[in-house]
Amino acid sequence: MDNVEYTCEELQELVKKAEREVQELMNKMTPEEREQAALKTQKLIEEDRIAMQKLIDDAQQAMAGSAPAEKEAPKFCASCGAPAGTGKFCEYCGQPL
Ligand SMILES: [Zn+2]
Repeated sequence: MDNVEYTCEELQELVKKAEREVQELMNKMTPEEREQAALKTQKLIEEDRIAMQKLIDDAQQAMAGSAPAEKEAPKFCASCGAPAGTGKFCEYCGQPL
């Protein structure tokens, strides 16, 4: 869970807001301009969506991955109190960590 700046809801809100702004701009254009702009913005929105989806996926993965793992890995042996190594058993007394 390092630098997650937005929640999923906030990201979706940003996408909606961007789409609304585009819609407002397009209402002021001529039909020809609108058609050109629609093609361009469609592409941009599509690219934004992919980037945002990646952010959302990364954030969800970070939340799902890091939190429980820390609880499952004790820092000290429960049996003798020695610092826990990287293995599944205590290096000092052999008890499972
Ligand atoms: Zn131990």
